[in-house]
Amino acid sequence: MSDLTKFQVIDGELIGARQIASPNFNQRPENTEIQLVVIHNISLPPSQFGGGYIEQFFQNRLDWSEHPYFRTIEGMQVSAHLLILRTGEVLQFVNFKNRAWHAGRSSYLAKVECNDYSIGIELEGSDDTDFEDVQYQVLSEVVATLQLAYPKIEQHLAGHSDIAPGRKTDPGPHFDWQYFRELLMNIKKRNSDMN
Ligand SMILES: [Zn+2]
Repeated sequence: MSDLTKFQVIDGELIGARQIASPNFNQRPENTEIQLVVIHNISLPPSQFGGGYIEQFFQNRLDWSEHPYFRTIEGMQVSAHLLILRTGEVLQFVNFKNRAWHAGRSSYLAKVECNDYSIGIELEGSDDTDFEDVQYQVLSEVVATLQLAYPKIEQHLAGHSDIAPGRKTDPGPHFDWQYFRELLMNIKKRNSDMN
């Protein structure tokens, strides 16, 4: 990706992301503001990258017979707002105005049902593999863009494991929070210097 600053949120859509509609969403509860970003990892089959299976899964188009692991998630209807592939490409499945189905049973600062008020970002990855540098670069640019559009999320970034402890482990021990926060801080500094 040559131009990392191209992202923009217009009408709940991330400009700069490839749009792929997922049917797995519903309305956020009335008068609910977006105030949290939840970071996940996903790979299908686990720890294997590429292949397009995550995209198919989020669209309810995955052929469960293609891999034994797929049988264990058969019929699950899930989604995330965004997926950042190993290549750094960003896919958007659900408009930010809508409620994606990524967090499940969860709570953040004693507020339950994180799907109601969060944006879910999946990184193509696993709990046992380092993420690609380009994924950190793109994630930081995307989160900086989201924070401009939805100021309440400024201080509220969490991993799935933070909001569903004991149940979920992602984004996992290989996700480098410190590196991500440094990149994010630098981007925000750069953006404010430009103003
Ligand atoms: Zn997750």
